[in-house]
Amino acid sequence: MKKVITIFLCLVLVLSCGSVAFAAEKAPGFGDYDHVFIIGVDGLGATFSQVESPSFDAIFGAFAYRYDAQTEKVTVSAQNWGSILTGVDYKTHGFTNSNLKIRERDSSSKNHSIFYYTRQAMPDAELVSFNNWDAINHGIIETDLGVKKINCDTDPKVAEAIESYLDEGNVPKLMFVQLDSVDHAAHTHGGLSDEYLTAPRRADTLVGSIYNAIASHGLMKNSLFILVADHGEAWHGHGGRTREESSAVLAVAGKTVNQVQLGIDAHNRDVSAIALHALGIKQPSQFISKVPAELFGKTKRTVPKTVTIGTGDFTTADLDDDPPFGRKITNAFELAFHTVASFLLTWMDQI
Ligand SMILES: [Zn+2]
Repeated sequence: MKKVITIFLCLVLVLSCGSVAFAAEKAPGFGDYDHVFIIGVDGLGATFSQVESPSFDAIFGAFAYRYDAQTEKVTVSAQNWGSILTGVDYKTHGFTNSNLKIRERDSSSKNHSIFYYTRQAMPDAELVSFNNWDAINHGIIETDLGVKKINCDTDPKVAEAIESYLDEGNVPKLMFVQLDSVDHAAHTHGGLSDEYLTAPRRADTLVGSIYNAIASHGLMKNSLFILVADHGEAWHGHGGRTREESSAVLAVAGKTVNQVQLGIDAHNRDVSAIALHALGIKQPSQFISKVPAELFGKTKRTVPKTVTIGTGDFTTADLDDDPPFGRKITNAFELAFHTVASFLLTWMDQI
């Protein structure tokens, strides 16, 4: 009898160990990464499908991307960067270009940024955000998390600041970067102009430089590198619901990222879910942001050691030049139309 009981107990033990092991099996990609780098390019839309982008191709070609991921319905910067960083939709977080510039917020606010969740999980983590458009650092990222907020007034200065920051020996858990000159080119010259299409080529070069700076410090071995846009551009700029404005690139590279085209339901705000997942942080309950099922696999893959950045002649237009007089007049009308249309669309959507 004693023998039977012993065998029975052993059986129970084996079965329970098996079920614990089964329950503990983690989702692909969960906690696989020590660092997450998010490079945001304002107004880039899906233009990497239209212009040469050697850095993008070298970094993401063997991993996961979609040129035309979805954006928020309102294709304005604050609404989209807000969702990309908080994992909720634009109505829930309520950020607008104006209110970001007026008010700061701390961690007592609702709809926390991913920096908040990372700080909660990792009290000593190095966290940093580089902006050309400083409204993101001012109004979205909480003031009391110890996130280093670095603002620069041109994109090349952002890239240089990142290089210096890494050269100083800083090793961030989470880095967010926002480049702004693509959107600037669209507002100045029109979103389908030659000048606008020059700007993504320059942005591609900077993305390559930033990647190389990170890789040269040996960080890409255990890092997830993400590229995302907030919205695209039409002739008048953005804010409406054309296909160009409502498409945004989303691309992810890292050692457990599959080589796959992301599905049609991929959304730019999925960046928040992807970043927390990669760092091993549970998804907050209010997130509608999600990790695309096809993104991560179990097979380890090698990321590029460095990439060869573009050497094309990008001097056809100085993007910081004033536009011609005629363009200034059209810009004024388009801006007025765009402001009224954006206001009406936002208002109609919130009633
Ligand atoms: Zn924008």
